[in-house]
Amino acid sequence: MANKLNLSRRRKKLRRRRITVITLSIILLLGIGVGAAYLTDHFLNKPSGDSKNIFGNIQEKIASGKNRSEGKEDNKVTAKPEKPVVKEPLPTDVNKGSNTSIEGDKYTFSAFDSQKANEHKLPADGKKIVFLTFDDGPSVNNTPVILDTLKKHDVKATFFVWTKNLDGTQEVREILKRELEEGHAIGNHSYSHDYKKLYPGRTANLNSIMSDFDLSNNKLKETLGPDFETKVIRFPGGAMSWKNMQPAKDAFAAKGIAFADWNIDSTDAKSNNRTKEQLINEIKKELDGLEGAKVEKITLLMHDAPSKKSTVEALPEIITHFKTKGYEFRTLK
Ligand SMILES: [Zn+2]
Repeated sequence: MANKLNLSRRRKKLRRRRITVITLSIILLLGIGVGAAYLTDHFLNKPSGDSKNIFGNIQEKIASGKNRSEGKEDNKVTAKPEKPVVKEPLPTDVNKGSNTSIEGDKYTFSAFDSQKANEHKLPADGKKIVFLTFDDGPSVNNTPVILDTLKKHDVKATFFVWTKNLDGTQEVREILKRELEEGHAIGNHSYSHDYKKLYPGRTANLNSIMSDFDLSNNKLKETLGPDFETKVIRFPGGAMSWKNMQPAKDAFAAKGIAFADWNIDSTDAKSNNRTKEQLINEIKKELDGLEGAKVEKITLLMHDAPSKKSTVEALPEIITHFKTKGYEFRTLK
């Protein structure tokens, strides 16, 4: 009997000791976990200013996945603190198969016809229309300012996106989304924009071109959602600049895709030192020439690349000039 009692007490003691050891181990592991989490947060991230919420920060980083590696580039370009993570792909208000928003669909014009006008093959119908086009963006410094100006003057434009830019920060993809949401149209300007790859020896390489634009199209959809679809492309450098472009033009046309060159070059790509006045004078001069030749559909080439400051500065006056001359602002579809 006494033995049995002793045994039972010993067992109880053992059980208590085991529970104490387990509890202490759990507390220790939790402590290590929190410590490691804090250190990870501290060393891998910029100062978050939110030390109260270590777990929140870690969850955010897990959710964002790519953001850590992007952080470096983000710093280089904007030097701004990391933005809150937004779920991808971004939701957009798009009619299925459209390259602009539902509101933006009211402003579209056939890119096949605009290209005919560029080639002086579109019969006059008395309607003066201008297509403002911006290539090589989005850029974090210039594109938002351009969007503000377009909004202020209540006009729409077409952005030919160099989609390699979309591999950058979330901020860049947000700007693309804003272009669409504010009723502007999106065109495909290739993924690589690499002349040597697309046109080796200045001659079109059909396979290279088709696969590059295909990849580019996927990049646009990744950001703008599965309903988005653009049927407008602009060849890097313009179709008129390269040899043997007909097979590529035909291959796109077979898919219902139009290429859009331009009939006025703002000359902002000539160098990075072009002044605002040079751009405005060039555009006015070219426009006078086209009006003299009875061309009513004007496609104006500009760039929203990071270096094109004078384009941003000239834009309000460019818009005013076309308004004064009685032009309607439309987008390419
Ligand atoms: Zn370009």
